[in-house]
Amino acid sequence: MITLTGSPALKVQVMCEGIRYTPALGQAAVHSMPNYYPYRFKEGEHDPTGRGIATIPYLINTADGTEIRILGDGDSPWHVEGDATQGYRLIDDRSGRSEPIEFEPLRPWLTQKTTDGLPFAQAGVTTHGDMLVINVAPGCEYFLHKQDGVSMRCGFCAYGAPDERTMHLGQKTGQVEIPPPTLERMREALHAVIDQTEIRHIYLVGGSLTDARKEGERFLQLARFVKQVNTRGIPVTLGSGSIPDDLIAQFHAEKLVQYVCFNLEMWSEPLFAKVCPGKNRYVGYQRWIESLETAVRHFGRGNVYSAMVAGIELEPEHGMEWDEAARIALEGAEDLCGRGIIPIYSLVWPVGGRQRSDYHARIRSYFETLTAGYREIRERHGLAVSEGFMCHHCAYMQLECDIDRAQLVAA
Ligand code: SF4
Repeated sequence: MITLTGSPALKVQVMCEGIRYTPALGQAAVHSMPNYYPYRFKEGEHDPTGRGIATIPYLINTADGTEIRILGDGDSPWHVEGDATQGYRLIDDRSGRSEPIEFEPLRPWLTQKTTDGLPFAQAGVTTHGDMLVINVAPGCEYFLHKQDGVSMRCGFCAYGAPDERTMHLGQKTGQVEIPPPTLERMREALHAVIDQTEIRHIYLVGGSLTDARKEGERFLQLARFVKQVNTRGIPVTLGSGSIPDDLIAQFHAEKLVQYVCFNLEMWSEPLFAKVCPGKNRYVGYQRWIESLETAVRHFGRGNVYSAMVAGIELEPEHGMEWDEAARIALEGAEDLCGRGIIPIYSLVWPVGGRQRSDYHARIRSYFETLTAGYREIRERHGLAVSEGFMCHHCAYMQLECDIDRAQLVAA
């Protein structure tokens, strides 16, 4: 196992072990960006709310600007003390270590509305740190299909099918075009966000369509609209699924985006097929990699990324120990970097195996080994995460930017 130091080490630890509820954490939610996942009190845990769940903040910022996503966990040795006036501290019960922290603030836009009365929070924009994510069609068609009784959705995904939850965005199954009023509302929200906080990256994402060409056409419509309204010239990333080569060329020819990120999620064809059955069926593993290579030809080495879910291989169904999972992931990092593609690893907690006494320890060993090993691979291939694509101010559950920054500081 490889051991990290400094802020990256703290971040991995807190991401892997979570934070348990304290009244200070609950109070902080009043003035902080709220977490999408409420805190769920475990059985027997003291619950001062009496409701079983509580709203908690979404993101922590440490004194050196490292951003950490908060995952509530009643078993965690980490807890928060303090208040808005005195400041907050993140404390480790085991060592007594105490770190000053802040929470991502609750910006006014989160409670404001479009001129026709839709809350900006429902207009298809979100932020983490200085990244603005545009998602005006979150419903994913993979949720609608099954093969031999198996859903085509990716195993870790918390999205859903286009249904009543996407009605306010006008998204309907089978409809490729984004309704113009949806884009107009998104424009209003985007300008409010940009006026209230420093945004340095725009990321276009959405649910998948089973027809990759149609998905590409939907993203073309979105990217053309964003190009018009992005008057400050903030760098934009295309975060669609794998799309046909001629459409990738079109995005480049029209200078609609500066970066491309098609998420392969899993290295190795067997794992990809199991974890992402829809991507495997409707696009295919080899084609996914080919489309990333096409993107490299147009956009250049270092401007093409692929988000990977790290940790899901530790689900008991895959029968894998952390060292084997880390070895496979690093093999993938080596291969992708060799093609000029930069994978970005996001930690995903496995749902199963919680009864194991080493549940947290193995996630941490896996993620630390992957993170440290991957830094050497990037360096060897002369690849660095571009500041326009992503930075340590927005990498809320990824380590690449933190590791590279720590190395720069040490040099
Ligand atoms: S393709 Fe994307 S939205 Fe659809 S199930 Fe997979 S991760 Fe979720």
